[in-house]
Amino acid sequence: MGLQYRGFLKQYYDVYKWIENSPAKDAAFCFPRRICRGNSLNSSQIDLAFSTKGFKNWKNATKAFNNHQKRKAHNYSSESMLKLIDGNSIDVAIDESKKLQLSQRDSERLKNRDFFQRLVDITILLAKTGKPFRGHIENVNSFNKRMYKEVIELLLKYDPIFKKHMECGPRNAFYSSNRIQNDIILALYNYFQKKLSVTLQNKKISVIADEISDIGHHEQMSIVIRYFDSNLNQPVEHFVCLQRLNSVNAQSIFDVLINKLGLSWSSVIAVCFDGAATMSG
Ligand SMILES: [Zn+2]
Repeated sequence: MGLQYRGFLKQYYDVYKWIENSPAKDAAFCFPRRICRGNSLNSSQIDLAFSTKGFKNWKNATKAFNNHQKRKAHNYSSESMLKLIDGNSIDVAIDESKKLQLSQRDSERLKNRDFFQRLVDITILLAKTGKPFRGHIENVNSFNKRMYKEVIELLLKYDPIFKKHMECGPRNAFYSSNRIQNDIILALYNYFQKKLSVTLQNKKISVIADEISDIGHHEQMSIVIRYFDSNLNQPVEHFVCLQRLNSVNAQSIFDVLINKLGLSWSSVIAVCFDGAATMSG
């Protein structure tokens, strides 16, 4: 008995125009079936070997191929494929279906953006009104989860975009964890900081700073900048940051101004400190 070749033979392509070979999986598939999944066959009619699993029983290949192409399901997908390509070559048809996939991905992206916009707005709202983002207990039974989750739940009740995302989106994409909250806050901070930095270039500013010890006994310095806004035609004050000071001296305050806002010290025309003995240095 001679050695029998167990695998896909090139000649199969000549006889079975629908066949598709995957060398990586060492399996044969039905090409029309892959292209035209979306027809209305019930699952019992689908030949799984040629659709999802891949056909590997090489010993009985010819017989199985002949049987497969007689099946109703196969004829349905072949017909659908012919309709789909509609006289075009198959690569044009694949191109079309890729375009469709891309536009679906685009609309998915826009939906995610809509959803995220709401989270950003919630964050801005809480920051503006100085409300606490998080509560001590945030599980489903908690009466008061604090504002971030409470507002999310409120939106969930009335906003279809929000509701749809929470119900249909992937489970890891709820964006309600404390880490995500911090990420959004930081992203907003960076955005406003950059905007402020651009606004302040070539402007004269004055600095208002005050120190305080926080609950952990760390020195925190609040820095506010005052400048003249020529569009509004009036002076404007901007809170820049609360900066934890490692050492309480004038140099660390200068560092904040220079590092955070990219300002040169020469643009500062006035400094105002409350009981700042450190500033004498
Ligand atoms: Zn088929």
